[in-house]
Amino acid sequence: MAVFTKELRFSTRGEIDLVDITREVEKAVEESGIENGQVLVFVPGATGAIVTIEHESGLLDDFKRALRELVPKGRGYLHNRIDDNAHSHLRATLLGASECFPVVDGKLVRGTWQQIFFVELDVRPRHRRVVVQVVGE
Ligand code: ZN
Repeated sequence: MAVFTKELRFSTRGEIDLVDITREVEKAVEESGIENGQVLVFVPGATGAIVTIEHESGLLDDFKRALRELVPKGRGYLHNRIDDNAHSHLRATLLGASECFPVVDGKLVRGTWQQIFFVELDVRPRHRRVVVQVVGE
């Protein structure tokens, strides 16, 4: 069994910035030379998330709105006694820090309209690191 790990690095523009990382993840799978297995996409950080969604501008705006409605800002959250981003943490926890995809015949398996996005949930622009780890043979 082989393990290939790569880090993606990029900057975000602040709250609910959506960054399409599909190409970079697929490139990492190709670089790994692994034919069959799985690829994990993980963000080390408590205010970022990895999701899949169709890359269509209307839907991306719908997603942003849904996040704001689901977990609104500033509702007297207890974490805001020591920080200002309780809603960021809560949104990140609900979305999750990782996604895992099958790798079959050297290709990441996903739906045609299922792109891979990093979601910036913090209240300010950040430098982000996403770990892509391919495991298989
Ligand atoms: Zn915090």
